[in-house]
Amino acid sequence: MTITCERCKREIFKYEKCDYCGRKICNSCMKSSQRASKVRRLIICKDCWSSMPKRKAYKNKRAYVAHAKSVQA
Ligand SMILES: [Zn+2]
Ligand SMILES: [Zn+2]
Repeated sequence: MTITCERCKREIFKYEKCDYCGRKICNSCMKSSQRASKVRRLIICKDCWSSMPKRKAYKNKRAYVAHAKSVQA
């Protein structure tokens, strides 16, 4: 069973979930990932990478808490 990458619409078998927009993305849409703690891994997609506040949050090892309306999906 495959799922569709919510960013590039490609069919994929395995997805990662972007911590900054919540979309299920494939490997090539993932810009970067890092271990924020022992249990927590942060993943950011290429779209979110181009958003300064999100990139900043990523660099501070924080998830970008979606104050839903102010965040562009
Ligand atoms: Zn993709
Ligand atoms: Zn994202």
